Amino acid sequence: MSTQRPIDLRSDTVTRPSPAMRRAMAEAEVGDDVYGEDPTVDLLERRTAGLLGKEAALFVPSGTMANQIAVGLHAGPGDELICDARAHVYVWEAGGIARHWGVQARTINPHGGLIGLDHLRDKIQPDNEHYVRTRLVCLENTHNRAGGRVHPYDSVREVADWARSNGLAMHLDGARLMNAVVASGVPASEWASHFDTVSICFSKGLGAPVGSAIAGSAELMRKAHRLRKALGGGMRQGGIVAAGALFALEHHVDRLADDHANARLIADAIERAPGLSLESGPVETNLVWIAVDPGAGTAREVADRLREAGVLVSALGPQTLRAVTHLDVSRGQCERAAGAIVEVAEGMAARA
Ligand SMILES: *Cc1c(COP(=O)(O)O)cnc(C)c1O
Repeated sequence: MSTQRPIDLRSDTVTRPSPAMRRAMAEAEVGDDVYGEDPTVDLLERRTAGLLGKEAALFVPSGTMANQIAVGLHAGPGDELICDARAHVYVWEAGGIARHWGVQARTINPHGGLIGLDHLRDKIQPDNEHYVRTRLVCLENTHNRAGGRVHPYDSVREVADWARSNGLAMHLDGARLMNAVVASGVPASEWASHFDTVSICFSKGLGAPVGSAIAGSAELMRKAHRLRKALGGGMRQGGIVAAGALFALEHHVDRLADDHANARLIADAIERAPGLSLESGPVETNLVWIAVDPGAGTAREVADRLREAGVLVSALGPQTLRAVTHLDVSRGQCERAAGAIVEVAEGMAARA
């Protein structure tokens, strides 16, 4: 094991608040937010609504809760949402849509992972007692499991126009929407304009310790308050954590471009490393999904070797790894990680 602290590329959630962020949190003005009396939460919600071009926003503990509230707003027992088969709301939220709301998912397996209009046209169930009611389309941008890719803007617009003309609601899982904004140059409010509700995480690449938000119309957010309470997400002096999120919005958005450049550096190493390849094509943002050739070993083996070399990545499938850049890994550390990846892969290839 390297004696230095490991270079942690497992996720962009591993960041720790900087001293300046901690100061902002310590000094936050707070009150009881369940009474509507926390000025810092209130400010964060207004900022977030403004950023996303929506009437209102609601601060919640996690991105999962933001997505779950969205599903609860748009659908209920006997309803169906449409999403892709690798969407966070379907795969990684502990079956919440079924547990909380009695909603089922119709999943689509698009080539490359991003849903377009062509996948959707025939997916609305007939209006007939035999069927569930199709209510909602969920998109994810950037799309985590599809390699952190930015959903093509025109495709989002087409899907949204189609959904509206068919009476379906649209929800955007924007856990990493700001990565999409920085990578595409399309403002957050423009992306959000195609959706009834949008969730955004402050605790991913933006680097806040805790917190997400959901945004939408004032009426939807009034209902969202009740759903948040039902899920146990009402927070009292939430301003302490909201201050971290505000700090992140003010200081950590533009720098996401550095994470994207660092991810491309890692991606270049993957392309040079024998037995490893980019699972989802060129890297567009801060996520690098890596396929391990079975001839080279398993994902677990590669991850263990990298750990010994002082680099942490996630093994997220038998032959699948993920490396994520974020504000707690510098350019220099990413250069070292890139070198270690090539070295480990060459070592394993020599052994094979
Ligand atoms: C991380 C993530 C979430 C939810 O995040 P938590 O805050 O961990 O609940 C939702 N959607 C996507 C795409 C994510 O990557």
